[in-house]
Order: sequence, then C-alpha cells, then structure tokens
Amino acid sequence: MVKAVVGANWGDEGKGKITDMLAENADIIIRFQGGANAGHTIVNNYGKFALHTLPSGVFYDHTTSIIGNGVALDIPKLMKEIKSITDENVPMPRILVSDRCQIVMPYHVLFDQYEEERLAGKSFGSTKSGIAPFYSDKYAKIGFQVSELFDEEILKEKVERVCNLKNVLLEHLYHKPLLDQAELLDTLHSYRDMVAPYVCDVSLYLDKAIKEGKEILLEGQLGTLKDPDHGIYPMVTSSSTLAAYGAIGAGIPPYEIKKIVTVCKAYSSAVGAGAFVTEILDEVEADELRRRGGDGGEYGATTHRPRRMGWFDCVASKYGCRLQGTTDVAFTVLDVLGYLDEIPVCTGYEIDGEVTTDFPVTSKLEKAKPVYETLPGWKGEDIRGIRDFDQLPENCKKYVEFIEQQIGFPITMVSNGPGREDIIYRTSKLAK
Ligand code: GDP
Repeated sequence: MVKAVVGANWGDEGKGKITDMLAENADIIIRFQGGANAGHTIVNNYGKFALHTLPSGVFYDHTTSIIGNGVALDIPKLMKEIKSITDENVPMPRILVSDRCQIVMPYHVLFDQYEEERLAGKSFGSTKSGIAPFYSDKYAKIGFQVSELFDEEILKEKVERVCNLKNVLLEHLYHKPLLDQAELLDTLHSYRDMVAPYVCDVSLYLDKAIKEGKEILLEGQLGTLKDPDHGIYPMVTSSSTLAAYGAIGAGIPPYEIKKIVTVCKAYSSAVGAGAFVTEILDEVEADELRRRGGDGGEYGATTHRPRRMGWFDCVASKYGCRLQGTTDVAFTVLDVLGYLDEIPVCTGYEIDGEVTTDFPVTSKLEKAKPVYETLPGWKGEDIRGIRDFDQLPENCKKYVEFIEQQIGFPITMVSNGPGREDIIYRTSKLAK
C-alpha cells in the first residue's frame, strides 16, 4: 500500500517524526518534491539529525530510501548528508536516486543569491539553495537530468548551450563572473561519479514493489500553503507540496495512494515572508512559544532562522487538509502548549467586514483578520508519556476534539513528544 505523509500548513509540522515513525512498518520511503532547502528534524536512538534530502526512513536497516524524479537533487549535499549519518554509526542506508531526477547546478545557487540581491527589499525570502532557479530551468527545459550525466556527448553540448545563455544574464543583468564551460563539465563528471552507485529506474522499481504488496511511504516537504498553485502565491516554494504530486514525483499511478496522512501542528509557525493571519504579534509571547516549541525551539532545521509563531488556524488547516485529500490527520507537538492558561484558536477570518471559514486567495488573505475562540489550557499537567487518548487532561482532549470538528478531518494520531514512541492513536468519529 502507498501512503503519503504531507503537511497541512507552512511546513515544519513534524512530518519527519511521523514519517520516521511510520517507516518502522514500511519497505520503501520516497522523497517526491523539493530540495535541500528545508529539512526534517528527527530524534531517534542514534541521536538528533537534520535531514534535507534523504527521506526520514534512512535510520532503519529494513527500508530502501528513494530520491524521486520530482526532487531538486543537490549531489554534493546528498553525499554530505549520507556521510553525516554514517559518521554517527547509522548503518549505510540503501539509497536509490531516480535516473529522471534533475540536478541542482552550482550556478543555480549563485543565481538564487544574485536574484535576491537584485530584488533587495522585495525578495521572496529564499533560502538561497538554488531551488527556484532549478525549477525555472527544469520547466524551461534547460535542466540536467541525472541520466544525462552518463552521456558525454549530450552533456558537452548542453553545457556549452546553457553556459552561453547563463553568461548573458551574468554579464548584463547581474554583473557577475561568467561560467567556465570546462570547469562546469569537470564538476558534472565528479557529480556523475558520486551519484553512479545509486542511480535507478525508480518508476519501474516502484511498479514491481507495488505489485509485490510492499509498504511504500511518500514523504512531502513543506505544506499545502507553500504549494505553487494552492498556496500563498508568490510566497510559495517551487514544486508542488501536495500528496497528489507524489504520484508524479515518484512515478506511480495516482490511484495507488490509499492513505494520506496530513500533519498539523497544535500551533502555527511559518518561515519567510507572506501573510500569516494568526501570527502572534507580541514579541515576548511569540518568543516564549518559539523557545518552548518543537524539540529545542522553533528554528529552521536548515537555515536556523527563528520561525514566525502563531496560534492554531482552523481556516488554513481545514483548507490545507482538504487540498491534500486527507484520510488521517496527525496532530503534533501538543505537549508544548501545556504552559498556557488559555489557548486562542482561530476559527474564522474577517475580510472586509465579513467572516469566512474558507481560505481565500492571497490578495484577500493580506486583509484577513483572525477571529479567535479561546479554549482553556491544561497548565501544570505534563502530557508527555501518555499513550492513551482518554488519559489526557480533559481540556487537552477538548482542544483536540474542538480542532477536529472545526477542520472536519479525522485526527487519528496525536503526537506528544519528539520521539518515535511519543504517539497516541485515536479512533475518530470522522474516520471513514
Ligand atoms: P518537518 O519539517 O515537518 O518534519 O518539521 P520540523 O522537523 O521542522 O519540526 C518539527 C520539530 O518538532 C522537530 O524538532 C521534531 O523533533 C519536533 N517534534 C515533532 N513532533 C513533536 C511533538 O509531538 N512534540 C514535541 N515537543 N516536538 C515534536
């Protein structure tokens, strides 16, 4: 069976932990979109790890980890990441890289920086990992596919063509040093040698695996609101963050995705610019949640940037779950809220004097003001270690039930700590 683990919101919902946990019963875990610009934090018996390219199943010795064709593959970063985990005594994972995966080129990273510089104050808050230039080139059909590294003739011709094009921009738009063809070709030869042991016809491999009844997990990066079509465009990422894209970014039939686990955090956080309706504007209050949040604070796993903090947003989460096609909600980081006397929950947006529970397009979102309902907290009661939903404090259960009702999707998992075992399975009335 194929399951997807995806985010409902702006990312950082705790997908890594949920994937790592579900990977225990999986044979194959696949990354299907995004690049090394975001990351998952995973805590397990080997230690604490920040993964950027590798799927969250790499810590088990029974799983195969796949980088699907939809990913922006930064080959040196992948190699570094493999080394960073094997250096900590994690056994060498079985890794496959799709031969149709495209490569983040050294100049993509440069163009990302140059463009942010050029835009100055009007930038998109890019992490400058080359992801936007990478996907632009992919769709402009001047990207490099892994398979092309193994055909010298194609490679040479393409390097020449692309360098000529990029150098016009470097010279006249950015006023920066030009690309050197021979140097780029050498770099690509080194990439070829690095990636060669992992290259695979992934869609064929998965076709066989599905027929054999293997358990397959698709691991998404970021969340619905960062999707280029359905998110808060233009403050979005450059590849689709939706479970539906899992079919494309891995190369499997869409109808094979039977379960879609959408991860929702018990409060909100966001990175980068863009409308964030439930943002906590009081810096002291925001900082307290930021420091207590996640496991060791809400700071970017890749960039270490402090995240913007907010209260739970039912409007955004209902929309986020709907667009993912959610079958199950995993509600995470609930333990962190235990310090509050009462907890505001956003149940509607007021836009031009009217209240709505439907998430709007970006131009209207900029005008939205949150409508809050305040729920009582469960201050002083530590919920970590609880494994049974009924054992949770009454107000804590009510918080989960209230949110489930507002978003309209079944919360079947509640995560109350960063570890694999910190999970409460729950039967939901909304489950189909
Ligand atoms: P991802 O990109 O969606 O995987 O999310 P991140 O890795 O950026 O953020 C999740 C953070 O929260 C990580 O540090 C996790 O270890 C941590 N985490 C996940 N679930 C829980 C939980 O239920 N409670 C606590 N306290 N931390 C959690």
